[in-house]
Amino acid sequence: MNIPFVDLQIQYQSIKTEIDEAIAGILTNAIFVNGEPLASFEKNFATYMGVAHCIGCANGTDAIEIALEALEIGKGDEVLVPAYTWVSTASAVSRVGATPIFVEVHPDFYTIDVSKIEAKITAQTKAIIPVHFYGLPVDMKSILDIAKNHSLKIIEDCAQAHNATIDGKKVGSFGDMATYSFYPGKNLGAYGDGGAVVTNSKKLDGKARIIARLGQQGKHNHIRVGRNSRLDSMQAAILNVKLKHLTEWTTKRQLVASWYVDLLRDAPVKLPSKPTGYEHVYHLFVIQTDKRDELKAFLATKGIETQIHYPKPLHQVGIFKAQGAFPVAEAMSDKILSLPMYAELNKVQAAYVALAVREFLG
Ligand SMILES: *Cc1c(COP(=O)(O)O)cnc(C)c1O
Repeated sequence: MNIPFVDLQIQYQSIKTEIDEAIAGILTNAIFVNGEPLASFEKNFATYMGVAHCIGCANGTDAIEIALEALEIGKGDEVLVPAYTWVSTASAVSRVGATPIFVEVHPDFYTIDVSKIEAKITAQTKAIIPVHFYGLPVDMKSILDIAKNHSLKIIEDCAQAHNATIDGKKVGSFGDMATYSFYPGKNLGAYGDGGAVVTNSKKLDGKARIIARLGQQGKHNHIRVGRNSRLDSMQAAILNVKLKHLTEWTTKRQLVASWYVDLLRDAPVKLPSKPTGYEHVYHLFVIQTDKRDELKAFLATKGIETQIHYPKPLHQVGIFKAQGAFPVAEAMSDKILSLPMYAELNKVQAAYVALAVREFLG
């Protein structure tokens, strides 16, 4: 049996009529940037996520840069980020001229270790970017307390956690601003690149919008040096269709995760865990084993595609200033393996994957 890591074809087949209609509508109206499709997606996405404002932009990396710029973070400033995340979280900080400062991650939850944050705060620290990593929300209560005590801004990186919640409240609605990616493989993915910045602040919405639209406040009135970062109408129309399915897809991912957990419970692997009251949306289902490389190779011989998110913690990536040791992140990097995960993965496939893992690890 061949089991891909993600299957975007099967998802398209399940919503083909709606998607084809939406794309045909864009071609017929020939509104390829901005216009109604973008405005309606921005409104629908904000409503769905429980925030007041949404600005569509070109990708999730741009979204972080735009949010940092809107908060006027730049040269001389420090921004706290987890030592384990996709490179964009930290490189966006560098791109605006500030310095990303790494914080160790939690050994069980893999998100930023909130107990290690305060030791990293200096007079230069301006913001913190909690990343809801693999789909699990960060302990936002602690983040909000720390930010309040030290006057820090919060930008939530929600690229892997569309629809994740803490006690029913969606991630992205806790901080000053939050960012999303609609990269095709994300829990809500476009058919190309896309991203969004969301906020409850009218002022920050206005600023982010101006920054992402070439510094314009109204047509041809450029009030600052901005950038051109658009979510095009075709992607907005596609995302408008897909957003209607996100609740169902989230539940299905959680079901797949529950199958894996049941089938691997007594196997010699470390399974994902989460605090009570937290909804994990399983962008990735990550296990840990000392025999990671051997297991990955064995699963490949069984037709099972796996990935590593990510091979190195950021302090070892080499493009950032050396910042010492992060033992939890370092230990993780040799052991983590992401199993196939998508809403359409069925029980037979999940059982095949789990049985193969057990067969190898004994
Ligand atoms: C995917 C991702 C991004 C960047 O999104 P792009 O749309 O690929 O630019 C940022 N942060 C995290 C945690 C991500 O997983």
